[in-house]
Amino acid sequence: PADVLMTVDFGNLVDLVEAGVTQPVKSEALESAIPANLRDADGNWFALSLRARVLYADKDLNDLISFTYEELADPKWDGKVCIRSGKHPYNIALISTMIAKDGAEKTEAWLEGVKNNLARPAAGGDRDVARDILGGICEIGIANSYYVGLMRSGKGGPEQEEWAKAIKVILPTFADGSGTQVNVSGAAVAKHAPNKDNAVKLLEYLVSDEAQGIYASANYEYPVKPGAAVDPIIEALGPLKVDATQLTEIAANRKTAAELVDKVGFDE
Ligand code: FE
Repeated sequence: PADVLMTVDFGNLVDLVEAGVTQPVKSEALESAIPANLRDADGNWFALSLRARVLYADKDLNDLISFTYEELADPKWDGKVCIRSGKHPYNIALISTMIAKDGAEKTEAWLEGVKNNLARPAAGGDRDVARDILGGICEIGIANSYYVGLMRSGKGGPEQEEWAKAIKVILPTFADGSGTQVNVSGAAVAKHAPNKDNAVKLLEYLVSDEAQGIYASANYEYPVKPGAAVDPIIEALGPLKVDATQLTEIAANRKTAAELVDKVGFDE
């Protein structure tokens, strides 16, 4: 008898709706705090915090000051790119966003280009991108923003602090200039919530300035509420402009994205 369902990755939230275990919620507080592309149009789920898919780059690449996701496929990065499995939800979300923008055919060509640029097999975790830049295996890679906070703050241990010192972070955009790709943590009110009113109150609290500040400091996430405080380590990465594509629309491309990963042999 759950009241609130909480999870990460908008794909998981969309799956909850499709499984029929959520209910629509109408709340002025939630709708004014959360941008429309980061919540379900019918109120079945709401994003509560954001994580950006960012570029980790060798700190000595002085000419590199901006980056587009499309450039990951540029042959100038041949043998210089590190990234985790293409099948991981973080990368499926990125590839699904590319499909929403450019269609499956262009995305396949892009993915093939990224695959051809890999310095090592697409595997491991996001923080391994920083580790492998320090180790001289690669020069750039894609990983989540909050790991920068975990590594730089020392919360990941002294070894990871060294990894973080080897990198600089760039917030990429898509070539259309729209913004940086983000994923979310979020919540839904359960279909049979015994305490619906309190469930909605909890969600409304979680988008308050106080709770948004806790997300920002505890896990180095971006608040979902525009203007809420960001941890100084994350603030130092520069202003985040969130790509405006509706997350529900992106989630519909997940199956195609996974098929493209197989088709180009991304993880092989
Ligand atoms: Fe993670």
